[in-house]
Amino acid sequence: MLALVKTAAGPGLTLTEVPEPVLGINDVLIRVHKTGICGTDLHIESWDPWAAKTIKPPLIAGHEFVGEIVEVGANVSDFRPGNIVSGEGHVTCGRCRHCMAGRRHLCARTVGLGVGRDGAFAEYVALPMTNIWHHWPGVDEDVAAIFDPFGNAVHTALAFPVLGEDVLVTGAGPIGLMATAVARHAGARFIVVSEPNPVRRALAQQMGATAVVDPRTQDIKDVMAELGMVEGFDVALEMSGNPAAVRGAIDAMAHGGSIAILGIPTEDIAIDVNEIVFKLLTIRGIYGREMYETWYKMTVMLQSGLDIRPAITHRFGFREFEEAFATARSGDSGKVILDWTA
Ligand code: NAD
Ligand code: ZN
Repeated sequence: MLALVKTAAGPGLTLTEVPEPVLGINDVLIRVHKTGICGTDLHIESWDPWAAKTIKPPLIAGHEFVGEIVEVGANVSDFRPGNIVSGEGHVTCGRCRHCMAGRRHLCARTVGLGVGRDGAFAEYVALPMTNIWHHWPGVDEDVAAIFDPFGNAVHTALAFPVLGEDVLVTGAGPIGLMATAVARHAGARFIVVSEPNPVRRALAQQMGATAVVDPRTQDIKDVMAELGMVEGFDVALEMSGNPAAVRGAIDAMAHGGSIAILGIPTEDIAIDVNEIVFKLLTIRGIYGREMYETWYKMTVMLQSGLDIRPAITHRFGFREFEEAFATARSGDSGKVILDWTA
């Protein structure tokens, strides 16, 4: 089969023929239809220090996908060839305290699809049946392809109640964009999105932001005043990993507010802990998706009118992966999709 492979330590990915995955008795084999490009894939492609430390070539990259089951292992009885599915990209150990208690998202020994094991940028991918999410008939496959980052957005946006609350979103990358739509769907009052890139600020407005802010030239507090907000934000969703954004969020919170942090910083961030103490803030880290409550919520919200499609801005055939990666890297894009059937 054809796959996008990190063949050796160093920059680049190679589209090349590799053997099809070997199917274990508990696995399903999926013909990949569409994949999303994630920031993680950009790190692996460019071979930054994180990738150099984490990735052991040869490795097929990619973890955001939708496809059709073509074969199931001998132990698998509840999936069938023809099912349209996505996969939870965190393969958990199954034996630790949290896994045994059903809190699999808290497993400390997860192996990442396309990071620690061969991924989905390929014509076929294999995953354990416990990692499979079966979509409903007629699902939009572009949307199904990005259930992984959509799940990050849902996990973060629903970490704290947003009904009637004022929400700050820092960072309007694909995940911040989707989180904006989720917060809107879940009943937030004001959603202010802070993002330096004008293309992404415009997308944030399409996704339901009440107001957008350029953190380089505007003060969030001015926007709060324009909206008539007096006490600060009730909930912040940190989706940038940027130090100034984290500090700005802490500063803009109301007393008793809650901050969910998904963004992954690339450097240490100095914060004034006094603000957390005296404002009685709650800060919660978010990693991955809850298995499978987040997947359930994604499904039912889409079925009840949530529309995340404006966050998908570009589509390419898999042979055009270099252009697709450049588009994702440019930042002047939302989600970029690769079609593996073309
Ligand atoms: P992205 O890099 O496309 O988006 C981040 C956005 O933040 C960019 O648009 C950037 O312009 C913006 N930004 C930069 N400085 C800012 C500032 N000072 N204020 C406001 N915005 C600022 O990333 P993404 O794919 O949307 O992912 C969002 C974040 O979540 C990234 O940090 C990513 O590494 C992280 N992530 C975490 C998990 C997890 O499980 N915790 C999973 C996926 C991604
Ligand atoms: Zn575990």
